Amino acid sequence: MNVHDSEKVVGTLMARGYTQVETPEDAQLVLYNTCSIRDKAEQKVFNRLRQFQRRAGKGKIFGVLGCVAQQEGEEIFRRAPHVSLVAGSASYTKLGEMLAEIESGNRRVTGLSLSTDETFDTPFTHRDNPHRASITIIEGCDKQCAYCVVPFTRGPERSRTSASVMDEARGLAERGSTEIQLLGQNVNSYRDPSPAGWDFAALLARVAEVPGIRRVRYTTSHPRDFTRSIVDAMDSNPAICDHVHLPVQSGSTKVLAGMDRLYTRDDYMRRIEWLKTARRNYSITTDIIVGFPGETEEDFEQTLGLLDEVQYDSLFSFKYSPRPNTAALAMGGRVADEEKQRRLVIVQEKQRAIQIRRNAMLIGGIREVLVEGRNPALGQWIGRTSDNRTLNFTVADSNGHDLVGQYLQVRVTRSGPNSLVGESVSVV
Ligand code: SAH
Ligand code: SF4
Repeated sequence: MNVHDSEKVVGTLMARGYTQVETPEDAQLVLYNTCSIRDKAEQKVFNRLRQFQRRAGKGKIFGVLGCVAQQEGEEIFRRAPHVSLVAGSASYTKLGEMLAEIESGNRRVTGLSLSTDETFDTPFTHRDNPHRASITIIEGCDKQCAYCVVPFTRGPERSRTSASVMDEARGLAERGSTEIQLLGQNVNSYRDPSPAGWDFAALLARVAEVPGIRRVRYTTSHPRDFTRSIVDAMDSNPAICDHVHLPVQSGSTKVLAGMDRLYTRDDYMRRIEWLKTARRNYSITTDIIVGFPGETEEDFEQTLGLLDEVQYDSLFSFKYSPRPNTAALAMGGRVADEEKQRRLVIVQEKQRAIQIRRNAMLIGGIREVLVEGRNPALGQWIGRTSDNRTLNFTVADSNGHDLVGQYLQVRVTRSGPNSLVGESVSVV
């Protein structure tokens, strides 16, 4: 999401006549887009700003964008007086005006309002990748998970109209993109604000029907809003990729209640059951937090049990990280950092074994990949399967063709915990 936000910011700047340069040293305007979901993100930003200014910052204009900007606000001017612009993502609609103020010499410009009901819907997005493109369909979050800073940094939920999403999807297809990723903090909480009133399943199905679009992905889904109609839409539209990222966070209903996740373990497992009994095969991935306040050894074991039960194809795991303003800050039952680290390693080792086993089962099969790049050192092309696996492969004779952006059939010959290796069976 942050990468895509940067694409919008770059596009907006270019529309105002700015040009991109290769290195920060060559720039006159340097904008840091930041994330504050975990760890001491604010500390890192201040360190980077200080180091860069000392090394090469003379005469440059600095700005801080994104969640650290929203969270720290004008404090940034105090701690880093060389910064001229501080703006959170909910204010990017006003980026043009803010830049105009900077151009006219204003040394302190802020965009920190969260009261906006607009989405940052810009015609100027600058996308480097001509084949795969992201579209934000919903911004912000109305949930209040006890550990999470997002509602404070990205503001309330705002959905774009279905017409504007469809226009963007058609435009991308006309310019040659074949894969579209729909984005939102809780992408499946999408609700069309126009009279058409589409829900997420309807939008997903319509985007998948846009001529020229061969793959549609979406991330991230909140389990509470993951409906059966989404599975039905996926079953009926082969262009919707066979991958669902469904963050569970914990396998313990008690911890889930403490987190205010709005579902129990059973509610979550019901959704997994829908996916496992669906007409198509879906790859399921998740996010896990270990060491949330009050998480006992028994709670943790329930998370491990859930991993055995679901058999995820991949997961992101994190140590609970206290975040400003969040409800969990005031909770008792803190878990020591060494214990969080121990639990994290156990989760990762368990998942690694699951992935080794699951990936090995794919050897011998043929998969379609979208070619994303080339690894000349290994003589391999880098492909991605519909279910979001990396499949690196060789081509008997590519005749010197650049295969990036093509769809090829590849036979899987080897597997590891995080990727597959194969050889192309398509004639290129
Ligand atoms: N909206 C999505 C998640 C977005 S944040 C959802 O609700 O599922 C991405 C992931 O970061 C979360 O799924 C969670 O696992 C992790 N995360 C968020 N806040 C965190 C915190 N304070 N400490 C550790 N991990 C956190
Ligand atoms: Fe954060 Fe919860 Fe909203 Fe996800 S649903 S962004 S974890 S508050």
